Amino acid sequence: MEVLSISNLNHYFGKTSLKKQVLFDINISIYAGEIVILTGPSGSGKTTLLSLIGALRTVQEGSLRNLGEELKGANEDKLVQIRRRIGYIFQAHNLLPFLTARQNVQMSMELHDKINYREAQDKSEAILKEVGLEHRVNYYPDSLSGGQKQRVAIARALVSHPKMILADEPTAALDSQTGRDVVDIMQRLAKNNGCTILLVTHDNRILDVADRIIYMEDGKLTNRS
Ligand code: ADP
Ligand code: MG
Repeated sequence: MEVLSISNLNHYFGKTSLKKQVLFDINISIYAGEIVILTGPSGSGKTTLLSLIGALRTVQEGSLRNLGEELKGANEDKLVQIRRRIGYIFQAHNLLPFLTARQNVQMSMELHDKINYREAQDKSEAILKEVGLEHRVNYYPDSLSGGQKQRVAIARALVSHPKMILADEPTAALDSQTGRDVVDIMQRLAKNNGCTILLVTHDNRILDVADRIIYMEDGKLTNRS
């Protein structure tokens, strides 16, 4: 089953004479359960593409279907619904400093309807245990290492069982062993949940987790291998 289908997608930043095209005729299909790595030089448009796929930016030209919904022209309610089905993991893990590891994970669940506090608490603790942080549940981000924070971010992205995970350079701030561990955890949890992962990375050491690698250069997908 196709979970992502992009055709003839273009994207521009700026207006009038300063308008600059950053994505050129992008075409991609991604299937349920696939782990796809998107790689390429800095400035080639990877983050822009990921944010369009994640319904975090308005689709300007072309078609982008995510989990069966067309994002081009979608209204805000539709975009919110789509965002709820996606787990986001970014390099600057964006944990809230005044919440503990558990509260950070739990907060993302409370954005979903129909879940009570107790259930959210139990699920948050269970997923923190799965990423090996059972001893850090009540720690604040400031007292966690970079790798631990990134694992909290993974737990937060996965706790609601999203159909799709979008990760932008999730290992960039980590040493190679920690980066490896983080990707292995993502892979394991995603396979258990039948979730699709699209991972942007420069990190050659983790390319082997991918079922497929897509290269981007100057806003275009290329076949380089
Ligand atoms: P990557 O993630 O591959 O490094 P980006 O998608 O961040 O690439 O950037 C692609 C191009 O778009 C770059 O030339 C960048 O300078 C430009 N760009 C990114 N975000 C913006 C923005 N908000 N406004 C204007 N230009 C941007
Ligand atoms: Mg980027």
